[in-house]
Amino acid sequence: MKKLGGKEIAEKIKSNLTAEVKRLKSKTGKAPHLIVLQYGEDAASKSYAQRIEKNCKKIGIEFEYQQFIEEPDKFKSCLKDANEDARITSIMVQQPLPPDLMESLEMINPQKDIEGITSASLGKLFVGLETLNPATAEACMEILDYYEIPLKGQRAVVVGRSNIVGKPVSILLQQRHATVTMCHSRTRDLEWELKHADIVVAAVGRAEMIKGEMLNEDSIVIDVGTNFVEGKLLGDVDFDSAADKVKSITPVPGGVGTVTNQVLMRNIVKSFKNLHGIK
Ligand code: NAP
Repeated sequence: MKKLGGKEIAEKIKSNLTAEVKRLKSKTGKAPHLIVLQYGEDAASKSYAQRIEKNCKKIGIEFEYQQFIEEPDKFKSCLKDANEDARITSIMVQQPLPPDLMESLEMINPQKDIEGITSASLGKLFVGLETLNPATAEACMEILDYYEIPLKGQRAVVVGRSNIVGKPVSILLQQRHATVTMCHSRTRDLEWELKHADIVVAAVGRAEMIKGEMLNEDSIVIDVGTNFVEGKLLGDVDFDSAADKVKSITPVPGGVGTVTNQVLMRNIVKSFKNLHGIK
């Protein structure tokens, strides 16, 4: 079994971005600037924002964080201002959001939508136009490419159909000529689908749900899952049993998540360049 680690890929992206941000600063006199908006007090969202801040600082990206508690109008008005403020080049609205604020995600200026979550960004991805793609989906592709895993004509099974991971990764795989099967909670025979896959992308959110015996010997497994169980980070795939069986697999931690962090940074730099008309 080959372990498809993400650390080297992430380091490479990070060092390229650090040099690029330096160049952009000397060319424009400005730096990419991210604002993260949080509504409510979700502790996991807050610590995620702190991690993003650290990553931004290392690369030279400016970071700003605003938290709102029971002030929906203030939250919306801050989002509107961020759309209009030329200094702010990237916007992230943290989820979970209360149901009545979910539609505010659509307010994000698609050019600043570094998570690729607006219908405008996802629509462009769907029709194959250049856009800011959801970072996790792109990180999966980055790993497959880094390890030179052939995609054309391969059977890829994506487990999970969320707008932020499962669906976008299925589109990216199809763009690269893989034959994609989408599985979800109502799939009749998940094990049969997995057994016939060359590539498996697991994005379910259920710790170690996919066991080695459900996979085939030749499969390549990309585990997107991040599940905290008793303080331990676990994937959607049972790594130990799968590692004994499959050809290669991403670890959790140290796999998709590690690459996603840097792909998100790359989207921040991309949005800055797009807004400044820099190729
Ligand atoms: P989500 O929105 O909750 O979607 C989960 C998907 O899994 C749904 O489509 C659901 O099917 C499907 N599912 C649930 N139970 C299933 C079962 N028993 N068999 C087959 N499919 C099942 O989750 P998400 O936001 O896509 O996240 C998925 C995982 O990736 C989570 O662990 C999350 O923490 C992780 N994640 C990691 C990164 C990273 O950078 N590494 C980034 C984002 C998310 P239905 O549609 O039928 O309900």
